[in-house]
Amino acid sequence: MAIMITDECINCGACEPECPNTAIYEGGMEWTWGGGTELTEVEMEDGVVISSDDRQEPVSDEFYYIVPGKCTECTGFHEEPQCAAVCPVDCCIPDPDYVETEEELTAKKEWLHNE
Ligand code: SF4
Ligand code: SF4
Repeated sequence: MAIMITDECINCGACEPECPNTAIYEGGMEWTWGGGTELTEVEMEDGVVISSDDRQEPVSDEFYYIVPGKCTECTGFHEEPQCAAVCPVDCCIPDPDYVETEEELTAKKEWLHNE
């Protein structure tokens, strides 16, 4: 299950540098698949292949946000989600729209980091 940031976020920025996959971005900032990963290109659900350097629309303009496709719950790096561990207001919570098994999270981590 990916982690999500709620609108309780106070935009302190503490979580962003803790993410091993660079899945966290400041509100309003564009994100990339390649930032913090080994990906060079990514196939979308419709079969279109994009460069991992292509800039993507922000998920939120107001608060720090997590890209679900890059969040592994820190699998393979840490025992627990680091964003949730450092967040001073406990607004990093499991995202019910992105439920994944441990095996799926491990596969995602290996995909992101070309292992
Ligand atoms: S749970 Fe880990 S991988 Fe997911 S956004 Fe938080 S720090 Fe990044
Ligand atoms: S640590 Fe928490 S409050 Fe601070 S930016 Fe991240 S999600 Fe927002």
